[in-house]
Amino acid sequence: MGVETTISHDKYFVCLYPVAMGLEEGAPLWRQTSATPTLSRSNSSNIKELSYLQYLKQKIKPSEGPPYSHVCQVGDPVLRVRAAEVEPGAVLGEEVQRVINTLVKVMRKVECMGLSAPQIGVPMRILAMEYPERMLKDIPPTIRQARGLVPIPLRVFINPQLRICDSRQAVFLEGCESISGFAACVPRYHSVEIAGLNEKAEAVTWQVSGWPARIVQHEMDHMDGVLYTDRMDSRTFINVRWEEYQMTSATPVLSRARSSDAGFVAYLRHLKRKYMGAKDPPYNHACQVGHPVLRSRAAEVEPGAVLGEEVQKVISTLVKVMRKRECVGLSAPQIGVPMRIFVAEYTERMLEQTSPVHREACDLAVFPLRVFINPRLRVCDSRTVTLVEACESIAGFAASVPRNLAVEVSGEKTPTWVPCGNALILLDEWSEKEEEWASNILDNGLNERAEPVTWQVSGWPARILQHEMDHLDGVLYIDRMDRCTFTNRCWEEHNK
Ligand SMILES: [Zn+2]
Ligand SMILES: [Zn+2]
Repeated sequence: MGVETTISHDKYFVCLYPVAMGLEEGAPLWRQTSATPTLSRSNSSNIKELSYLQYLKQKIKPSEGPPYSHVCQVGDPVLRVRAAEVEPGAVLGEEVQRVINTLVKVMRKVECMGLSAPQIGVPMRILAMEYPERMLKDIPPTIRQARGLVPIPLRVFINPQLRICDSRQAVFLEGCESISGFAACVPRYHSVEIAGLNEKAEAVTWQVSGWPARIVQHEMDHMDGVLYTDRMDSRTFINVRWEEYQMTSATPVLSRARSSDAGFVAYLRHLKRKYMGAKDPPYNHACQVGHPVLRSRAAEVEPGAVLGEEVQKVISTLVKVMRKRECVGLSAPQIGVPMRIFVAEYTERMLEQTSPVHREACDLAVFPLRVFINPRLRVCDSRTVTLVEACESIAGFAASVPRNLAVEVSGEKTPTWVPCGNALILLDEWSEKEEEWASNILDNGLNERAEPVTWQVSGWPARILQHEMDHLDGVLYIDRMDRCTFTNRCWEEHNK
């Protein structure tokens, strides 16, 4: 998991908002983002400067406000409000017609089967559906039949009402353009009826079953600020490209080889990986959600094997990837190894990136590298604290997660490893500062035979331990999160 320090998207992103991002009371629920692009924008250092001509153009023709020609991403408050009824008399008016046209245009552009007005930044009760024959062509007949896939001509519903006709439920993998690149299993009613006005302000009713019924229910949810992640079986949530990710990030060296001075060395490394089976775990990247290794219970490490080459390689790779990704904790399953090992570290540099307010509110404190093997967790204070948390295996997202206030961790004892609170630290990895810290522990009752003492922590480190411990049992933070806080960390940039 990582640590977040500010609400912006800086490197040390990752954690620590005591409130649901973007959902504070009193915050504007949606904004005419670019209706008034101003000169102050061009003065801002982190936003691309506008030329005076561009400025004039935007001023005369504000082009970026909703309805957007893109799909808003989860985290955008517009996706979480109850959309407003459309005045029947306004349906044929310019504003509503423009929303409908844009909705259909965007739906066709991104090739999805349904889209709702909130997804293009307009909190109105309007949705569109279409499933052309041409998109159906690539789907094997067995899947068509199993899912009840049939072509749908373009349909627009304004102020739609839903009635359940058959309350039996079917569970299928479902995605949403507002949570782009992910999918999860969601139960939906078998058959429903939707009624409302169409784009010509005529009353229409449509009774559907199978896949179209699923789309209707999905789009109806958007009218009330509900996303499929609120209804999903979180254990089925996947990054649809997790496999691709394995392939591409396992061979990043070749692309680097072409552009760097050390090209030849990198090329050799690439060849080595290619021909020596270096794609096997431990990986030099974090596996993404969808990889089965993240969902299995990791195996205990034989205490006698801790000093062996295999386990040592896992540990050193974990530390390397954790530091490369600048996150505060990483578990072996995340690098493709289902063993009960995790590492954690919170450096001075990471702490410096946080604001004093966050430091205090979140109990942030530096701690040196720690390696935990076969750790066991005991809850010491079961009061819960809810803060925003992220995970390298669900890259780009975050959510509020309740965790116990204080925990205690204990791990295996082995020679040449120094137990720290019963967990193990490899002596080689220690810096001077860490030794000093260790001597404090020794002074506090740890003898040289390394009799166990307990590492009992509260606040921030306790959260990290619980997050990483979860990984060892195939649990991710999305299984525990407050679902309405699940957020794409770049949703704001997406609207710019
Ligand atoms: Zn959707
Ligand atoms: Zn994680």
